[in-house]
Amino acid sequence: MQNTPFLPFALPELGEEEINEVVDTLRSGWVTTGPKAKQFEADFSSFLGGDVESIAVNSATAGLHLALEAIGIGPGDEVILPSYTFTATAEVVRYLGGTPVIVDVLEETFNIDPAAIEAAITEKTRAIMPVHFAGLSCDMDAILQIARRHGLKVVEDAAHALPTTWKGSKIGTLESDITVFSFYANKTMTTGEGGMLVTRNAELAKRCRIMRLHGISRDAFDRYVSKTPAWFYEIVAPGFKYNMSDVAAAMGIHQLRRLEGFQLKRQAMAERYLEALSDLPLVLPPVAAAGDMHAWHLFPLRLRAEANIKRDDFIIKMAELGIGCSVHFIPLHLQPYWRESCALSPEQFPVAQSLFEQEVSIPLYTKMTEADQERVIAAVRSVLANA
Ligand SMILES: *Cc1c(COP(=O)(O)O)cnc(C)c1O
Repeated sequence: MQNTPFLPFALPELGEEEINEVVDTLRSGWVTTGPKAKQFEADFSSFLGGDVESIAVNSATAGLHLALEAIGIGPGDEVILPSYTFTATAEVVRYLGGTPVIVDVLEETFNIDPAAIEAAITEKTRAIMPVHFAGLSCDMDAILQIARRHGLKVVEDAAHALPTTWKGSKIGTLESDITVFSFYANKTMTTGEGGMLVTRNAELAKRCRIMRLHGISRDAFDRYVSKTPAWFYEIVAPGFKYNMSDVAAAMGIHQLRRLEGFQLKRQAMAERYLEALSDLPLVLPPVAAAGDMHAWHLFPLRLRAEANIKRDDFIIKMAELGIGCSVHFIPLHLQPYWRESCALSPEQFPVAQSLFEQEVSIPLYTKMTEADQERVIAAVRSVLANA
């Protein structure tokens, strides 16, 4: 394998359409939020269906911040979210002075445990933030029922879940208040950096649009094309600078057109892994329920005790064979800031802790060839055979 190039853990798939659209944007002279961002938002709403409004932002983190601001999270408010996630899910609660209440997950799916949500509810609880780990939907019936019963808001962190369905409905079109997708470089589609906030609630949409751009009552492009004087605007709140540029949206327009094809390829690759690795001492990731779609952003393996190799050593051996792997996630309860500021310890999160100790994500992305995937399979088999 000396002469085979290193296979990175993740790579985006950007083609001539994206490149040409970006060039067209650069030549047009309008490079900030404008016609391309508007088109991308409209295309995204029609992709999801269900009469949602889409609001393009410069990251999912920004979108989650806007979402929590719009539903009114403030100092003292508690927001329940899983330990098994990226820090962005929790940090946005802190931006608003709120308290993230971090709970354990379910072993089979890595997703937030509805029973743990129920047990964590207090007088101060305002919202639940489910995360659809790896692209497999949380049990949204259970979560929405708890929210309804206790009068809580739901903001879905759908950074992995494009496209994902729950009981036949696309994530983004359920009864939640707001759902946020990520277009970070390694996600299922990318704009380099970017995100999309979607909601069916017109009031929340209006607040998010205003807060996305400094609390200005009309955005730069509106002012540019509108009949009233272009120089006039009103500040109605101390907003943020979270708008998506047309350069990013130009990529998004074409990535979105390719998304169904991307999902089919990811699905086929996941099926190949599930079949080729089934006889090994691994716990393979669960598939979606019959008729539902898994976005397959990640392919998370768990090394069983019988594998006889520690996760960290497994990753080193894979790298020696030229394969990049990763870990999703280092749970929040192990991160110094969250551990200390929320007084967390591993005993409070037995499931997330044991998942973390065993988990390794192997490469799964559309730019991989069949030969690339066979190399990964051969490497996993060889590392385990020699353990
Ligand atoms: C990637 C990710 C985010 C943040 O997305 P950005 O677009 O980079 O801000 C949030 N939550 C989860 C679970 C993620 O994986």
